[in-house]
Parts: sequence; structure tokens; C-alpha cells
Amino acid sequence: MLTCTAPVHSPRTLEDALATRAIHPFATVLAGGTDVMVYIEGGSLKPSALIDLWKIDVLRGICTSPAGTHIGALTTWTDIARCEALPAAFRDCARTVGAAQIQNRGTVGGNIVNASPAGDSLPMWLALDARFELRSWRGVRQVAAADFWLGYKRTALARDELLTAVIVPSSSPADHVRYRKVGTRLAQSISKVVLGLRVRLDEGVVHEARIAFGSVGPVPARALAVEAALLGKPLNEASVDAAVALLDITPLDDIRSTADYRNAVARRILRAELLSL
Ligand SMILES: Cc1cc2nc3c(=O)[nH]c(=O)nc-3n(C[C@H](O)[C@H](O)[C@H](O)COP(=O)(O)OP(=O)(O)OC[C@H]3O[C@@H](n4cnc5c(N)ncnc54)[C@H](O)[C@@H]3O)c2cc1C
Repeated sequence: MLTCTAPVHSPRTLEDALATRAIHPFATVLAGGTDVMVYIEGGSLKPSALIDLWKIDVLRGICTSPAGTHIGALTTWTDIARCEALPAAFRDCARTVGAAQIQNRGTVGGNIVNASPAGDSLPMWLALDARFELRSWRGVRQVAAADFWLGYKRTALARDELLTAVIVPSSSPADHVRYRKVGTRLAQSISKVVLGLRVRLDEGVVHEARIAFGSVGPVPARALAVEAALLGKPLNEASVDAAVALLDITPLDDIRSTADYRNAVARRILRAELLSL
């Protein structure tokens, strides 16, 4: 077992956390620690210092307004799974992260900033057109999910910034949201393919479609050609098959799966979810 002797800063307020982050831009931010502690234990992370956010309650919780849903970065997957205001598909997503212990401790913000290509929530944020609130001592800005993940484990977060919240625009009753994760097991399983989608139907015709996949490349990606092909079409076998044929993903072979399997399963789950709407 490795011993970590790095100093731990435990700010109690957001202001203190931002000041600490400004003074220690190379410190490791710690939220639930379900990724960070694994990296430390495995020896891939040797932090010079830690900034523990856990006691900053203002970063926790979900509130809805006509403009949308505001989710604090420290909100756990258990909190998400219990929140009736969020689309049922998103609650399904929360229930697939690890198992109960991980869901009680792991946070939304940690999953987003960890930026693993296999992060379960990443395609959902793209499908829901979420925006991330980033704060530093210098001020606050919002970055669209589409602009946040820049490459493998690289994000738009600056060294002195914290992710403080996620803003999900309010959905219309015509929106249909779906989530699918394909892994080896139902729990404690890293995904082979993750799908998040939101389709807005107007009298049975696709008015808007946002379809995103995770685990099939270094960053989660929208299926833009499929989305474009669906616009203005009713969802039936002919239109769905024609659109799914345009899916353009180039997954990797890795220890969890092969590119061929990922390609095949991505098409299969996309077809099934679209036809289920
Ligand atoms: C057994 C096990 C099973 C798991 N299963 C899954 C799974 O099925 N699906 C899945 O997606 N993930 C899984 N994970 C990974 C992990 O649980 C999730 O990614 C979780 O959401 C991370 O949240 P956290 O609060 O624990 O992050 P932490 O470990 O605290 O932090 C993760 C990263 O984000 C940074 N960070 C955290 N919060 C902020 C913030 N507010 N501002 C700036 N930077 C921040 C940290 O510095 C670090 O780089 C699993 C982990 C374990 C150990």
C-alpha cells in the first residue's frame, strides 16, 4: 500500500477554495476521490498537494428553474439517481456508475473533469446540450460540453479553475431522452460503448436530434451525420436504418473490447433506441 504524504487543503467555502486553487495551481483537486485515490494507490499520481472540496456544501445539490436544471459539481450519482426532476434516462445513467459505494461518493464534477473516454456521463451531457460552469479567482465562465473535452484526458479547465456546476437546459415535453451502456456486467463495469441521445419529435417527425457516443474514441463524440439524416423524418425502420448506416465512429481495440465489436454494438443500440421512441 502506498503512503501519500502530500499536504491536504480543506477549504470550507467556495471563496477559500478558489483562493487556494489560485495559490496552488498544481495541487490535485479532490472531490469524492473515487478516481484520484485509485491513481494515488496505483502510483500513477503523486500529488504535490490536495485540495479537498468535500466540505463545500454550496457545490452540492440540484435545483430546477424554467431555464433549466443546475447541478452542483459535488452532487453524487446517488443524488442524481434520486432526482425526479431529471430525465429518467439520466437517472439510469447514474445507476450504472460503479455500484452503490461509488455512487454514494463519486461526483458529477469528478466524472466530467476526469475526462475518461469511458466516463459514463459524458455522452449524456453532450446529448442534453449541457454547459459547465467554471470558476476561478478571476471570475466565472460557461463552456459547452461540446467544447470541454479537448483530447484524451485533456479538458478546457484552466489550472486555477474549478468546475462548480453543470447547467442542463430545460427540456420540452416533446423531448425523448435515452441512455444505454454496454459493459461486461451490470455493475462495477467500465463501458465498452455508451450512448446518450435526445430526440425532439413534432407530430412523429424528428425536429431535433442530439446523439453522442462514449468509449469509442479519445473524447465523447456526436453522431452528426446520423442526426442530420434523421431531421424531418418520421422514425420508422427505413429512416432509422438509412441514418444509422451513416454512423461514422472509429473505435479502438483495447483490453475491454475490439473495434469491430464496438462498431457493431454501437449501431445495434442506436437503432434499437431510435425505434423505441
Ligand atoms: C470501483 C470503481 C468503479 C467505477 N465505475 C465507474 C463507472 O461505471 N462509470 C464511470 O463513469 N466511472 C466509474 N468510476 C470512476 C469514478 O467513480 C467516477 O468518474 C466518479 O464520478 C468520479 O468522481 P469523484 O468525485 O470521485 O472524482 P475524484 O476522484 O475526486 O476526481 C476525479 C478528477 O476530477 C478532478 N475534479 C473533481 N472534481 C473537480 C471539480 N469540481 N473541479 C475541478 N476538478 C475536479 C480531480 O482533480 C480528478 O482529476 C469507478 C471508479 C471505481 C473506483
